[in-house]
Amino acid sequence: MSDALSPVNPTGGPAGPWSGVPVDLWNSWRWQQANRLRRIDELDAALALSPDERRAFTESSARFDVAITPYYASLVRPGDPACPIRRQAVPQPEELFTSPDELADPLAEERHLIAPGVTHRYPDRALFYVTHNCPVYCRHCTRKRKVADPATAASLGELDAGIAAIAATPAIRDVIVSGGDPLTLADDRLIDLLRRLSAIPHVEVLRLGTRNPVTLPQRVTPALCEQLKTIRPLYVHTHFNHPAECTDAAAAALEMLADAGCVLGNQMVLLRGVNDDAEAVLALNRWLLRHRCRPYYMLQADMAEGIGHFRTPLATGRALVDSLRGRIGGMGVPQFVVDLPGGGGKIALTPDYEVRREGNTHWFRNGTGDVFRFVDVASTE
Ligand SMILES: *Cc1c(COP(=O)(O)O)cnc(C)c1O
Ligand code: SF4
Repeated sequence: MSDALSPVNPTGGPAGPWSGVPVDLWNSWRWQQANRLRRIDELDAALALSPDERRAFTESSARFDVAITPYYASLVRPGDPACPIRRQAVPQPEELFTSPDELADPLAEERHLIAPGVTHRYPDRALFYVTHNCPVYCRHCTRKRKVADPATAASLGELDAGIAAIAATPAIRDVIVSGGDPLTLADDRLIDLLRRLSAIPHVEVLRLGTRNPVTLPQRVTPALCEQLKTIRPLYVHTHFNHPAECTDAAAAALEMLADAGCVLGNQMVLLRGVNDDAEAVLALNRWLLRHRCRPYYMLQADMAEGIGHFRTPLATGRALVDSLRGRIGGMGVPQFVVDLPGGGGKIALTPDYEVRREGNTHWFRNGTGDVFRFVDVASTE
């Protein structure tokens, strides 16, 4: 990895303004949660905000909270306004703009609610939002409007209603426990929820969507993993976006989850100025595979309010997949996915490999640009 891609703090241990913090405190997720940077003076002291960032903080705080764990903040490259960690976590002035085609609920999740917090858009799958809290509030979050609003957090009674709705819908085989970040829940509450869901006869697959391995890897403890071992099958989908997030602490969290029998996948969000770069995605995906986490999706940034500055042209995602194809095994090539606004669901876009076609004969280019002829079978229709 080149210097610009590798983490500033490769171990993920106490560094920079936190270098005096004892390692055992630093490694406590409770200490990390309690010491999150939330106020403007806290961010400024740790990260030296620019005048633009100060203005962005003040003007955006009514819409979307700010929180950064000391761990994640320790990965910010000092003095670099383009630092990928900084761009994901510190409010920037572009957040204040909403263009006319950006939507408060870009994926029409509310229209497909079957209970508070349960979106049932695909026949066999349900998305279950069990909390609205996250260790770090990502500036590119699609669910900005709901995340960080304590008034909309699911109460215990609502979780019961969600479980009941899933139990009453036999078509649901796959439940994605999401949020906010479900690892914000205490171990017992999370395990109880997963147990109750896995006890529903028609629920065959459970997924946990969490960014904790990226923003608060200390949350993945031996005690939690002992309990996760009892839930089968459990797919954990996480959200690494850049090699600067690939620390020893993050690797340890992935390894522990994999040792606990979880099947790991990564859902990267393609972000302009952060990871719209083949070298960055290649380095990230190589690291993920080394730690038993398969790149699953590369998501086009949604048309959510205030994230227009992160959106890339569709051609960028296609070109990235194309460039990965020739340079890393198929396991390292995620699907490039667009979640269609208005509740259309996800579609995968692929590079266009066909260069010419005559009847049944097609000419395709391969990853290195050479062209090959392929004769299809005659259609029987
Ligand atoms: C993304 C999503 C899923 C899961 O989709 P997969 O393509 O199976 O990963 C399920 N429900 C909703 C509402 C979603 O947005
Ligand atoms: S962790 Fe996920 S839900 Fe939470 S702010 Fe980041 S993108 Fe949004």
